Amino acid sequence: MENRTKHTYHTNLYQFVKNIAVVCPNCEGKAVVHTGNFHELKMEIDLVKVVCPACGYNKTLENIPKREDKNQRRGLIKIFGAPIDPFFHLPVWYQAEFSGEILWAYNQEHLNFLADHVGAKLRERNGLPFRVKSIGARLPRWMTAADNREAVLKAIEKLKEKTH
Ligand SMILES: [Zn+2]
Repeated sequence: MENRTKHTYHTNLYQFVKNIAVVCPNCEGKAVVHTGNFHELKMEIDLVKVVCPACGYNKTLENIPKREDKNQRRGLIKIFGAPIDPFFHLPVWYQAEFSGEILWAYNQEHLNFLADHVGAKLRERNGLPFRVKSIGARLPRWMTAADNREAVLKAIEKLKEKTH
């Protein structure tokens, strides 16, 4: 059996930290956290802000932790892997409970990635070739457990269509 650690799953999340769909703190509609160049893993992070197209709420993040500021960075990293955005700590838009676990994603791209990955595991079980596109990608075990895959895929598809 492979060892699927949470750590590698979190590391992999960086690539999806672009436009994070979150619940607007003002109107509970779908707002977006723009994360500048964060996913490029630069020393300096560009403007990070949350904008809600529905009600006009917007807020810019002050004091963005710099890469060399280890303590602040650590605080930021810690909340990766939780269903909140890493900057404003707003709940992510795409989340649903699944057998006591929380199925969640930062955005549609992230949902597609999860669906691809879980789908690949499903095809593997059905005897078709299995290729993981992203080598470092390891999902939580409950997500890829044979008994859950089909239901997880359905839940992901449902989340994709969440509009309110
Ligand atoms: Zn709003």
